[in-house]
Amino acid sequence: MRTKFDKYVKKLGPSYIIRHNNIRKFVLAGKSHFTVVNTKTKNHFRFFIIRPKDLGPWFVWAANNKNKYCFLGTIFPRANVTEYKYGIRNSKFLKDSLINKSFDYLWKKILFNSLPNSIVFYRDVRCGRCGQRLTNPKSIKAGFGPYCLNILRKEWKDKKERYA
Ligand SMILES: [Zn+2]
Repeated sequence: MRTKFDKYVKKLGPSYIIRHNNIRKFVLAGKSHFTVVNTKTKNHFRFFIIRPKDLGPWFVWAANNKNKYCFLGTIFPRANVTEYKYGIRNSKFLKDSLINKSFDYLWKKILFNSLPNSIVFYRDVRCGRCGQRLTNPKSIKAGFGPYCLNILRKEWKDKKERYA
């Protein structure tokens, strides 16, 4: 039997899957929209992560059950890592909600590059850095427009990181 979930995943398509070793870079690129699917539990969540200022924190927004983005929490830059904190004062979700607990779990797994294969990240057809819709097939494949990809490549090169 085909479920609504299967149709949803089919619509996203395999070409939008982010490789596990690229997830942290994509998510922190500046204006990233993505969906996380747990293929075991069939849970799926949509996130939007924005960094308004260079070197500042990232704000994590998540889609609620009406598919509207609401503030969830903040990712703070630290010396060599980053730290996710639930937005105690202004989050629209409860601290004990599945979405907050899931993001907290995901972030730890992303940091230590230890995501299980059952968790799949799909990116939107938008540039992960500026959020603009992508139309060029090459850009769709990369997940970034050419202008943004150039800037990001320099940043990753400085940090000795690769995005392939
Ligand atoms: Zn862009």
